[in-house]
Formats: sequence, C-alpha cells, structure tokens
Amino acid sequence: MKRRILVIGLDGATWRVLSPLLEEGALPTLAHLVAEGSHGPLKSTVPPLSGPAWVSFLTGKNPGKHGIFDFCGLQRENGERPALNATHLRSATVQHLVGRGGKRVGTINVPFTYPPRPVNGYVLTGMLTPRDDEASFAYPPHLIEELRQELGGYEVEADYDRFVDIQDSLPPATCRITDERGLAEEIMRVDTKRKETLIHLDREFEPDLTMLVFTSTDRVLHLFWADFEGVQAGAERWDATPGGEVMRDVLVHVDGLIGEILGALGRGCTTIIMSDHGFGPWNRIFYSNQWLVDIGLAKRLPVLRRLDGRFLVLIRKSLRDVLARLGMQVVADHLPQAMGRVGVWIPRLRDPGWSSLVRMDTVKAYSGTTGHQSFYVNRRDRERGGIVAPGAEYERVRGYLVERLKELRDPMTDAPLISRIYLKEEIYSGDALSLAPDVVVETEGGGCWMVPRYPFRPLFQDWNMGCHRPDGLVVLHGSGVKSGIEIEGARIIDLAPTILYLLGLSVPDDMDGSVLEQALEEDHLRRYPVRFERVEWSEEEQAVSEFTEEESAAIKDRLRGLGYIN
Ligand SMILES: [Zn+2]
Repeated sequence: MKRRILVIGLDGATWRVLSPLLEEGALPTLAHLVAEGSHGPLKSTVPPLSGPAWVSFLTGKNPGKHGIFDFCGLQRENGERPALNATHLRSATVQHLVGRGGKRVGTINVPFTYPPRPVNGYVLTGMLTPRDDEASFAYPPHLIEELRQELGGYEVEADYDRFVDIQDSLPPATCRITDERGLAEEIMRVDTKRKETLIHLDREFEPDLTMLVFTSTDRVLHLFWADFEGVQAGAERWDATPGGEVMRDVLVHVDGLIGEILGALGRGCTTIIMSDHGFGPWNRIFYSNQWLVDIGLAKRLPVLRRLDGRFLVLIRKSLRDVLARLGMQVVADHLPQAMGRVGVWIPRLRDPGWSSLVRMDTVKAYSGTTGHQSFYVNRRDRERGGIVAPGAEYERVRGYLVERLKELRDPMTDAPLISRIYLKEEIYSGDALSLAPDVVVETEGGGCWMVPRYPFRPLFQDWNMGCHRPDGLVVLHGSGVKSGIEIEGARIIDLAPTILYLLGLSVPDDMDGSVLEQALEEDHLRRYPVRFERVEWSEEEQAVSEFTEEESAAIKDRLRGLGYIN
C-alpha cells in the first residue's frame, strides 16, 4: 500500500492551551488523533524561535549545521541585519530528500521556504515571503494563476495590520487590538483558504508527503495569552473575554479544518500534528541594546548627530487600511478589492534604529532580534564593519558580557534575571557554528523577552502578552504508529528522520535527530529497519540569493507588524 504522510504544523501550539480544550470536547479531530495515536511534548531549538525551529524541522539538524539562527543575518557596517531566506540554508531539507527518493511533496505556508525552490511536487511559501500579491510564492509558478482562477487566489498571510495596532516608536511600547471579531474572521478566512488550497492541489499532485503550517495559532497565542491566563478581571472563563474568544475560535476552527483535510485525503494517511515551540506568559520587556550601551559595549552618537531627521519616515499602507484608521471602516469595507489594495504613502514616527543612535565603530556586541535571547560579538573576522579581533579580545568581550549578564536583576522581583547562559559551542555544532550568536540566554521563568530597541528607554517595561517556550507538541497517528501512548523527550529535529523513515526512505547520516522509535510499532521497526545514507549538498544548491534591500525591509516590516522584530 502506498503510504501518504500529512504533517500539520500548528505554530506555537502547546498542551497548556489545547489540553483544557480537548477535555471539554472542543477539538474533536485532535482528540481522535491523540486517542488513537502517540502524543507528547516536542522540544524546540535553543532559543525557541520560529525561524530556526522550522528550519530544524525541515532539516533534522541543529542550527550549527543548517545555518539559520535567527530571522536576520549578521550585522553589517550600517548597523542593518538583512532578512534571511531559504537560500541561506546550508542543508538539504525534507522536501528535497523526498523528491530525491522519487516521491512527491507538497508544502503550504512552511516558514523559510521562500524563494520557492524546484521540488518534485509543489510549494506555496510561508512566513518571510516578501509580498504575497506580487512576488512568486509558488513552485511551479503557474499555480499562482491557477489558484486565482479556481479559488479566488491564495494569501500568504492574513492582514493583521488592519486589526493590530503596534506602537513602538516611543516608550512605552503598546499593542492594541482594534477589532477582535474582525481579526478572528480575517484569520479564519485565510486559514480556510489554506485548507481549500491543500485539497485542490492534492487532487492535482497526489503528494506522498503534504505539509501545511497554520501560523495563525502563534499569532493568537501572542496576542491573547493574557486572556488565557485569566488576567483580565471579571471574566469567569478565559475564553469569555473578546480576546480569549478569538483564541478559542481560531483553535477550534483549525481543528475543524484538519478534520476536513483528513476527510478529503482519505484513510491510510499517516498524520503528524506538531508545533515549533510552546507558549507562556510574557510579562517583561528587557531593552537589550540599551543595556549594551549602559555596560560600555557600544557608545552613543553625539545628540545632534542623532537628530538627523530620520525619525519621520514614509510607509506604504493599503488604501483600505488608511481609510479604516481614519475611522472610515464602512467606506473601506465597500471598496472593490483591487482598489482597497492600492498603496498610499503616509508619514509615521519611527525609531530610527541602532545605527543612527550609536557610533558603529564602537559596537563590540549587539543583540539578536526580538525574542532571540542572544548576543553577537561584533567580530572583525566575521561581521562587515566588525571591530573585535578574534582570539584573546573576542574571549575578553564575551567573558565580560557573560559576567554582566549574571549581575542582571529583575527590577520587579530583585531576583536574578538570567537563569541560564549558553556559550554557542555548548548548544550548537557544525560547519555554520561561526555564524551563531556568541551567547544565548534564558530568563527566569521565560517571561522576560529581550527586545533590542534603542534608546529613549528605561531598561525594562511591563508587558502582558504571550511569548515562546521550549515545549511544543507532537501527535503521530496512522499505520505503524502505536495507539494511545504518551511519548517523552521528542525533539523537533526528530521529525525529518521520522518522516523519511515512514516513507520508506533512508535517513541522511548527518541529521542530528533520530527516528521517533518510541512512537512506532515494534513489528514495523523490525520489518523495516532504519537505513542511513550519506547525502552530499552541492555547491549549486548552496548558491545564496540575498534579498534586495527593499525586499529585506518589506519582510522586516511584516515581522515587525507581527511583533517579531524591533
Ligand atoms: Zn513559531
């Protein structure tokens, strides 16, 4: 019998939220898969950030081998960090390996798949796609037109900007939802389209492996975690607040979509439900680049040089968005779709960024992007414009950074802020280790997220949303999978080898993950032993194509809109 595998990624999903919903019977599809299959937590990468985590899912490797540590690359002499894309991966992915084994693959909305690379099947790219309406987000490219005709078009990302108002140009940063119901409907509309697209393309391609990621789960957990924790006074149930209701509705809706997909793909499909990391409360922001200035690892520019007119910028918004912000929602809703998408330039106050506030020739260390709890030493032999010499000076700067991190205290509790400090060689290994952040930290309880913005800030700000935690989740279901058991210690890097094994393919011997044998029937493992092979990754496949500055800026703008980059 031909085995087909369906992987559904629920970005950021955690048992903490899904278990209570399962218990009350709100997620029947997932409940069925859990009852008849194997399930447990799934350990993310360190730190648990979507970019590196999804690439570890795709490659079965730690970031030291695949080379994606963050959404952005190393700092350049102008202080910018370029957005990364799929061509920066230094490893074969499961899509590539499945095609190489003569099988077909289809992927929808998996992060870090843009630009789409030729595969034996189809790709619709996900998070980090520059502009969904213009760019080529599909392989084969004709799918864009096909989906437009058959399904009224495919959308890479829901339009969060219309409903989420993030103000972070001046302190304190704020995030406000302007219309909870509108947001829920927009998210469910785009998620439904992903389901319809999968079913449509399944008939055309009949992939052996289909992967679809719902990123909406991550967004609602970020935005409405406080409702889930019951922080909003007066609510009897967490899902009785407008925000809690959005979170619940989106999760229940996704469960229904998975049910429809399983129904369409038919029996005999082995199903894996997984997430790239978990979630928990985010109650504090730590402005880490400000701190680097405070401890002398970067120096400010003179005041006048800082006020060089870069605070006001023109940004491009859709006409519909501008009308909605001006209180003309009714007009916005009645615009023809094409006209609503017309771009309008509007002025906006902007944080001018690190490079126009500090002297770049004094920067000895800089922070990872928001939530990437890390620091990079600005090395002369690595960063363009780096100033720290390799060897003794590098070790001195890194040692100083570590010592000062140990002294940091949470201003609200006066307890130490940082609970763990990792040097890069302690958590990463491989050819790409030189690109890694030099120090990675965990904050006490995980509730303080580092945000690299600078300056005008106190070091800390109270915050009340959700942020990532290391434990995601995994459910496996289907022939060859054990029924009704809990598994322990599964890691996100174990999924690529497990998928290859279940498809009857051999596993590359340089993958860090291993086949999740504890979830599989002993009989199946005996009859089909795991096979390994060496896979060379050719120079041609390593050819990197950088984003243009405009594309990089557009991607960072989108990530910023999702609360990722500051
Ligand atoms: Zn994620």
